[in-house]
Amino acid sequence: MALTPFTKNYQDESNEKGFQFTFLCDLCGGIGYKTEFIKAKTGKKGKLIKGLGAAASLATSSAIRRGTRGVLRGTTSYAVRRGVRTAIRTGTNALEKKYVGMSDKWHEEHEKVFNESQEKAKEHFNLCPKCQRYVCDKCWNKKENLCSECAS
Ligand SMILES: [Zn+2]
Ligand SMILES: [Zn+2]
Repeated sequence: MALTPFTKNYQDESNEKGFQFTFLCDLCGGIGYKTEFIKAKTGKKGKLIKGLGAAASLATSSAIRRGTRGVLRGTTSYAVRRGVRTAIRTGTNALEKKYVGMSDKWHEEHEKVFNESQEKAKEHFNLCPKCQRYVCDKCWNKKENLCSECAS
């Protein structure tokens, strides 16, 4: 699920323990506002790693079993190799995707806290009426009520 920030860039420092976001200025890219760390009520899927391991070893052993049967027919190693490769691929994917191991509840919370954080963060930004960008105080021209780029 993709989260849509009000600034062009943001950093997501959320983890299984909680949520934290940093919103960056559209003009200078500096930190405009960092939200408080909010504890998560839910965390990882309890059985994910175990489940994955089981699935992987299941795939491997059935491939080996298939392979063993294949030996008799003389087509061993292909099935075994394929089985092992499948097992490895399943394992790596899970590690690559940062939040894939989190429960659905965690994702729900993640999105909810993200939206609340945005509302809070917006108060610390200045919306330029001309270019519609959210900029930090350093990039804001109070006199002109424009961002420093539009004001110059
Ligand atoms: Zn700025
Ligand atoms: Zn502007």
